[in-house]
Amino acid sequence: MQNNWYNIVRDYTIRLVGMCSVNSTAGELRVAEEVLRLLQSDGLESTYTAIGLDPLPGDLSGRQNVYAFLRGKTPRTLLLLGHIDTVGTADYGTLEPWALDPEGLAARQDILAALAPGLDEDLAAHPGDWMFGRGSTDMKSGVAANIAVMRHLAQMSREGSQPLSVVLLATPDEENESAGVLQAVDFLLRLHKQYGLEYLGAMNTDYTAARYPGDQHRYIYTGTIGKLLPSFLVIGRESHVGVPFDGVDANLLAAELIRNLSMNDELCDVVRDQSTPPPVTLHATDLKTHYDVQLPYMAYFYLNVLTFSTEPGQLLRRLRRLTEEVLNQALQRIDDAERRWVQTSDNPSRVDSIKPRSGTVLTYAELCANVVQQFGQERLDAELDRAWESSPDVLDARERSLHLVRSLWKLSGKPGPAIVIYYSPPYYPHVAATPCALLDAVHTVAETHPELQLVVQEYYPYISDMSYLRLDPGLDVTALTANIPTWQSPGKQARSGAYSLPLKAIQDLGMPVVNLGPYGRGVHQSGEGVLMSYSFGILPQLIYEVIERLG
Ligand SMILES: [Zn+2]
Repeated sequence: MQNNWYNIVRDYTIRLVGMCSVNSTAGELRVAEEVLRLLQSDGLESTYTAIGLDPLPGDLSGRQNVYAFLRGKTPRTLLLLGHIDTVGTADYGTLEPWALDPEGLAARQDILAALAPGLDEDLAAHPGDWMFGRGSTDMKSGVAANIAVMRHLAQMSREGSQPLSVVLLATPDEENESAGVLQAVDFLLRLHKQYGLEYLGAMNTDYTAARYPGDQHRYIYTGTIGKLLPSFLVIGRESHVGVPFDGVDANLLAAELIRNLSMNDELCDVVRDQSTPPPVTLHATDLKTHYDVQLPYMAYFYLNVLTFSTEPGQLLRRLRRLTEEVLNQALQRIDDAERRWVQTSDNPSRVDSIKPRSGTVLTYAELCANVVQQFGQERLDAELDRAWESSPDVLDARERSLHLVRSLWKLSGKPGPAIVIYYSPPYYPHVAATPCALLDAVHTVAETHPELQLVVQEYYPYISDMSYLRLDPGLDVTALTANIPTWQSPGKQARSGAYSLPLKAIQDLGMPVVNLGPYGRGVHQSGEGVLMSYSFGILPQLIYEVIERLG
């Protein structure tokens, strides 16, 4: 394998890591401008068919995507994709002043090793081959590799020997709401129309890592994991703590549900030889705002659910069924406890008058339908408008969703106990492997290099921008959007805090995705590091070989 990439990719990586581009800051724009500069330097300015910055409309930090387009001899087009933002640097503690300075961190490797679990072992396994720093592997080295390959193709095209058409895109905001790639969907559709392109797919160069201790493989992925955030408003019934059986403790119901749902391996999405990690809660609380001696009658929590194949409608049906079971069991347990307790009381004969408790489980769409049936569509819309306007402009998306669901629940006049299940943002679609030329090229290149121990797996295991490049045309979009309280169809004038995804445009784009990225360790931790020999030397060559195969 030729190795003239190494020094170039290393230099670009150091340069990009050295510029702070923590998510949601103007630093993301500065790195975008630097990427543009690197692509054009040494006389390559006029070589590209199109190159520039594409602004994110209405973005508070003024962020922009960077793009470069090289029209080859054929309209067949590959997208090289990467993100330029990083997570923050506070996790470096006393080493934070050197978080963006690989040399400074190397000089303090002992302190770093004491801070970062597992670092000593990795240093011993690859002595002298790690570069540390925020963004080194997630994923400025991946962007650096894309720039190096793109520049090489630009030089070739000047000599008229560049067959394939290639678009390079570097996006901000991957670590938060993927605003960059969502804007890029529109951009790519425009480019497609303007130049009559035929997209072969996207090659993302986000980080890869060992999947278990001692793992010697390097991974290439041909699809990606997805994510949904099902949320539960749990309604009990109020009562004084002295007479708890007159009410229902909402925390008890929420706890029973969480016990059944969180870390439950039966809820893993298993496809072929891969399994998602099980769901976990990301937040759980009752809705009391102060101390009193009333039973908490409302609680809420949301669950992180990773997906390979489960669609939003399918997951909702499954969770509804499970929630009904759990609710019934919990209420029955309270009935039993009440019977035993009454039998020890002054009036044991009262036990015969105890009525079994029952509860309701509703999806958000069902709650809306119920309100419409009782009061009409206009009243529903008015209530949602009122609830929206009464909530602050700056409010966490999960809290805003909750606020809307609570308002509708109140309007419905229904009694507890009950549980309303709905989706909070964000939604990341999973993408399965698609038989296509890109997939064939990746498999062939991997097979050509048995010495590298490359493994081609289907689902990239981390949430990434790739989710927004392809959407199953058969997806039941309504089952999703009708259950997101803050959903607003794209194109309407956005109200603050509305959640919107260009689902139709993503379906139109429908790009197969592949992730062929740098190899690293300790992502989102102070021990973040990139393995230089692979990421600077081998990775760009692999990307280039895939392009050669496609061309
Ligand atoms: Zn990343």
